[in-house]
Amino acid sequence: MSILDTGVKNICNVKNVRFGVGAISEVNDIVNGFRHNSQSGRAIFLVDHYFQSKPSNLNAVSPQENDILIYVCSDSEPTTFYVDDLMKKLRAKCSEPSVIVGIGGGVTLDTAKAVSNLYTNLGSAAEYQGWDLVKKQGIPKVGIPTISGTGAEATRTCVLSNYDTGLKLGMNSDYSVFDSIILDPDLTASVPTDQYFYTGMDAYIHCIESLSGRYRNNLGDAYSDMTLELCREIFFSDDMKSKDARSNLMIASYLGGNAIAASYVGLVHPFSAGLSVVLGYHHCIANCIVMLGMSEFYPEYHKEFCRMRDKQNIKIPTGIGKNLSDREHDRLYEATIIHEKPLFNALGDRYREILTRDKVREIFEGI
Ligand code: NAD
Ligand code: ZN
Repeated sequence: MSILDTGVKNICNVKNVRFGVGAISEVNDIVNGFRHNSQSGRAIFLVDHYFQSKPSNLNAVSPQENDILIYVCSDSEPTTFYVDDLMKKLRAKCSEPSVIVGIGGGVTLDTAKAVSNLYTNLGSAAEYQGWDLVKKQGIPKVGIPTISGTGAEATRTCVLSNYDTGLKLGMNSDYSVFDSIILDPDLTASVPTDQYFYTGMDAYIHCIESLSGRYRNNLGDAYSDMTLELCREIFFSDDMKSKDARSNLMIASYLGGNAIAASYVGLVHPFSAGLSVVLGYHHCIANCIVMLGMSEFYPEYHKEFCRMRDKQNIKIPTGIGKNLSDREHDRLYEATIIHEKPLFNALGDRYREILTRDKVREIFEGI
């Protein structure tokens, strides 16, 4: 059996998707609909810390008196340690919530998914990193993205870094899929321009990797083709943050998430995971940095990516791999090569012969 023959045959989608400008106004109805799920009737709101100083952007969201509201710091990406610590605090406040609501970018959405799973699957977050290790349905969860691109609102995973093992890996499980999501393009208007591009490009990169891989299927390809079409329209337009563009990027993110749920990523994500785990770069900017070094593997997409970057006048850091120590290169190699499924998808079963230690070093030194 191929190592790619796991986890992606049954497609599990979000049950309910509310979409459109102003859709956020339905949040209380949706959350209240889940309150009967436990005796407590309590909701836990996990909200990106940006909104702590900008509460008016989320006027429609009104937690009830007994609900719990936690601001999630998205300065760093979620770790297994962070999620375990958060679980301790949450369990002390509420043993059985009715619904978990995540409002923010991929960091907050993934945190919400992990919390939902860990409430019903005991133990620590690290025990569930991998494929289909989550055994029970979690607490119902609602996802509300406020930045578009990662597709975290659609996928069956929540990505966590584990500094003990050096693994950046999700809880890949049907139980990690949101029950309900709200896609309101108005929520992304305040995203800073560079961040908007970096995160938006995650949708593009998911799909070019999937379309260039060995594991292909018509469903995944259809999602990917549509996502790429939307990305081109958005990132070659004069205003990638216009109302229409924000709306389209929200759709692209969702479709890209579905594409990747039906397929696999390729080379960019393992290298990007290396940059995250070893050097602390965030996922989406790390992807963009890596993409600049991918002319050998994805020549046409590399050119197209650079044209979109130039059209939107975006600065992507360069030269970061130049002065690293041998130890850092060793760690980068290990943190990259460990991602066997995407690497196999991109290069086949000889991926270790192609990506030798020296080759991986050369690629990192070039970016
Ligand atoms: P993020 O959560 O890292 O947030 C990026 C920045 O944007 C933060 O500073 C945040 O405060 C800010 N922000 C968010 N919404 C805003 C708004 N409306 N206005 C102003 N600022 C806003 O964003 P991301 O790039 O969406 O997520 C990256 C994370 O997603 C990584 O941890 C990555 O591993 C994860 N990820 C998950 C999946 C998945 O399928 N679960 C897929 C890809 C990436
Ligand atoms: Zn990604």
